[in-house]
Amino acid sequence: MERRSMKNKTLTVPVDTTKNGKQKRMHMVVKYDEPKFQQTRCQLEKNIALNNPLDDKEHNDNKTQNKKNTLYKSEKLGKRTLLKKQNVHNKDPIPDENDTKKTKWEPAHWKEVLNNIREMRKHGDAPVDAMGWDHSANVDIAPEVRRYHVLISLMLSSQTKDEVNHAAMGRLKEHGLTIENICNTSEDVLGKLIIPVGFWKTKAKHIKMASDILKKNYNNDIPNTIELLCKLPGVGPKMAHLCMNHAWGIVTGIGVDVHVHRISHRLGWTKVFKTPEDTRKELESWLPESLWSEVNHLLVGFGQQICKSQRPSCETCLNKDLCPQGKKELAERVKKSPKKRKS
Ligand code: SF4
Repeated sequence: MERRSMKNKTLTVPVDTTKNGKQKRMHMVVKYDEPKFQQTRCQLEKNIALNNPLDDKEHNDNKTQNKKNTLYKSEKLGKRTLLKKQNVHNKDPIPDENDTKKTKWEPAHWKEVLNNIREMRKHGDAPVDAMGWDHSANVDIAPEVRRYHVLISLMLSSQTKDEVNHAAMGRLKEHGLTIENICNTSEDVLGKLIIPVGFWKTKAKHIKMASDILKKNYNNDIPNTIELLCKLPGVGPKMAHLCMNHAWGIVTGIGVDVHVHRISHRLGWTKVFKTPEDTRKELESWLPESLWSEVNHLLVGFGQQICKSQRPSCETCLNKDLCPQGKKELAERVKKSPKKRKS
């Protein structure tokens, strides 16, 4: 009830408040000011409530309700906010099956591309097929001598054409390619035997040093781990992986030479084009292990005949519609062609 006195412009108003859990109505005299009347009344109720806090039960009920409201608000923040909060604490969240599938990257159409390369290589008429380093070791000799031949052929092969390597291996075998005999051969004579392979002087030195180590530490055989092979002078990861495969019959990784490195990048099989070691790691991250042994020989021949370093034969390549580099090359060649310029 409101009792108004317009004369002295005051007003007695009922104000609701709660004390000891009971609703209570008080009457207060306030100055009458029509526009501010409701505002004044609300303010009064607030002030009284502050001076008479709710009893414990109500206070607790209210706290519970506030909690519920907060939870409700939290839910409304959405899954994204919750995940964000969780990630702050779990720096390495365990990915679920779907996440794992998403993180395992592999290039599009790689199976089709690989089958096309097999098709283009089916005649086996590239230099690597007849005179590759893996053809230089005889099969009718003692296993440890054959393993040594594999290693020496690999050491000669870098920066050297297959034909040149094959001829040098022939001269070495005629000379007597055993660890014992090479240890007894001077570096000069060895150098003359392997000319004109690339970096023949350095290679002669490395072969001499490696042969001494093999005689001394490995009982005239070669080591059978990547780590130990890489400790030999002039032997890097590419040679070591190929050697493990061809000398010991153990596939430990992909042998990435200049052809595998270049072609993998052209096909979009690697995301970065840095070093052959980076390419090896990237290829091994998605290519099934059963194909690791095949891929070096396949791509080396493909690189010698079709996907050459200079002006690859994209026009005749079966992968021209799937290969990112091939599409670019062909588009540029069309732009530069005289026919196009005339029109
Ligand atoms: S389309 Fe050209 S660049 Fe691509 S794989 Fe074939 S030859 Fe190489």
